[in-house]
Amino acid sequence: MRRSSFKPGSHLAINATRHPKRWPPTKCIFCGSADELTEEHLYSRWTRRFVPRDMRQFRRLASTSFFDKSDFSITRKPGDIRDWSVSCVCTACNNGWMRRLENRARPIMIPLIMGGRIRLLPQQQKTLAGWAAMKAMVAEYSDIEYVTTHHMHRKYLYRTQLPPTKGWAIWIAHYQRKSWLPIWLSRPFLIDDRAARRSDNRATHFNSHATTQIIGQLLIHVIRSPMHRLVGKWQFALPQGHAIFRIWPPSDFSIPWPSGTINDRSAEYIADALKEFLMRVAATERR
Ligand SMILES: [Zn+2]
Repeated sequence: MRRSSFKPGSHLAINATRHPKRWPPTKCIFCGSADELTEEHLYSRWTRRFVPRDMRQFRRLASTSFFDKSDFSITRKPGDIRDWSVSCVCTACNNGWMRRLENRARPIMIPLIMGGRIRLLPQQQKTLAGWAAMKAMVAEYSDIEYVTTHHMHRKYLYRTQLPPTKGWAIWIAHYQRKSWLPIWLSRPFLIDDRAARRSDNRATHFNSHATTQIIGQLLIHVIRSPMHRLVGKWQFALPQGHAIFRIWPPSDFSIPWPSGTINDRSAEYIADALKEFLMRVAATERR
């Protein structure tokens, strides 16, 4: 979007917090079943063949941004972050529609993960977008994450295996890593419509989220927010030769892959771009 065109009566709130009632989950986050919950891997197990798990431990960084500072908490966990799983879905979902979506996404994703040359058809883009939205929704139920997705959006994915049509944008890029370390990045934020603000002016909960997932040479960036116009118009400004493609909302165009490659610097920019932009808008509004 043209940066100057963002003039809503909205801003980033201070002190937005995790929603207290939705975590940890006691029911399936998709169908609501109270059956026993099972583990869902954020990096599907089939990706092991293509992306070796070579980390002995990993650091998880949770950050909360305020106007004048950022709070960070770092936790160290044993093992490889790509073996990370979250207990939040019932067996029927896990072995049913989720597995079918996984099976449809796998042959599309393998060449992208390996950096192969393909033409990504519109239908394949939709399947990959559904897969990415499913993982982003599951990740929200991890112990350091934030639930920002409305339950109706999870229901929609459950019914259609597609991301919601409004308020969601999903991007993919061919990425060649050098030294930048992150494999999963989460940037929750609150866009607070002033008209709808509570009369006591207290902080409310995160309602928007940008997550970045890197699998081999594939970078997936998922944005969701109740600010539909912002999500729909958002664009990245990348240097020449670098490229990122929006696969959701869907288009009728095929993507010749890879027709551009991003480096560490662009990956870092993509992960933070929307939040940085909103922080700048918020800072301007406060003056
Ligand atoms: Zn379920």
